[in-house]
Amino acid sequence: MQIQEQYMEQARRLHQTCPVADAHLDLAGELLLHVNNGEREVLRRHYLDELREGGFNLIVSSVYLENEYLPEMGLRKALDQIGVLLEELDQNEEFLLVKNVRDLDRALEEDRIGVLLYLEGMDFIGTDFRLLRTLWEVGVRGASLTWSRRNALASGCCVASKRIPVPGGLTDEGVEAVRRMEELGMFLDVSHLNDDGFEDVCAVASRPFAATHSNSRTIYFNYRNLTDEQMQKLAAQGGVIGLNGCRFLVGRDQGEEALDWLCSHLEYMAASVGADKVGYGFDFCDAYDDARAGGTRKKNHNDCLVSHCHVPELTAALLQRGMPEEDVKGVIGGNWIRYFRQVLPK
Ligand SMILES: [Zn+2]
Repeated sequence: MQIQEQYMEQARRLHQTCPVADAHLDLAGELLLHVNNGEREVLRRHYLDELREGGFNLIVSSVYLENEYLPEMGLRKALDQIGVLLEELDQNEEFLLVKNVRDLDRALEEDRIGVLLYLEGMDFIGTDFRLLRTLWEVGVRGASLTWSRRNALASGCCVASKRIPVPGGLTDEGVEAVRRMEELGMFLDVSHLNDDGFEDVCAVASRPFAATHSNSRTIYFNYRNLTDEQMQKLAAQGGVIGLNGCRFLVGRDQGEEALDWLCSHLEYMAASVGADKVGYGFDFCDAYDDARAGGTRKKNHNDCLVSHCHVPELTAALLQRGMPEEDVKGVIGGNWIRYFRQVLPK
């Protein structure tokens, strides 16, 4: 779709005056890749301008581990990612680590970019739940039980992404992990969890859980996306769903058509569960892949949007297609801010 200038202006104004959040970015891992490539001040050099242009106030950074580091190198790589993120935050006053609601409010009041740290899969801690406490102390405030793998806690949907469903719910240890996380005050993310696991989480979780980066399975069939029933259950218990910008989950490659498809996912989710239960969780991964390849790889292959500074184009598309401004304000960040105000420690 062609975006009309009046909607672009409206979107830019909203992004500069209202809270804007991205609930999923592999930021910590990407920072480590850059630092290991010999770079310094990576946040300032690679992120600051784009995030400012997009008006972002909150980035939820995963600690994501690639298969090659598991199991032996997992804990070390995870701590290394967290260490680099903390160093980068120390060096850059425009960012701050969000460990509680006070930090979140500070990020908004002082117009800084809050970074909230969470684990994308707990493969690297096995069933050593005491490590959750250790990770809490260094700022980790949430986790998903598994990435698209099977581990000691649950099964993910890696094979499912090939349209083969993975059966089997949470293990006893997985149920225990949810309990320990809730005791600490960590939020739970169900993106990547398989369908049986989702049902088990619904049965055992007592605090609102979220899906930080998943789309609608009705709009595009992929087991990484949520069914209508799953979205309704998630929303009913107070969770928020983040729109994923990866072409494998959107169903279209980059370009004008992709913008329409992103809107279709988001509008469908909003119509199914309420516009106050959806947000952005783009999972931008081209820059990560680029950093992993030492900058030699061609950019913009998997992401439907080029980067954070292009997000207002999606917001403008939603406005142009008729979403009311009040709903859009929630989608771009208000809904995630409300969710994290509820689940983070005061
Ligand atoms: Zn993911």
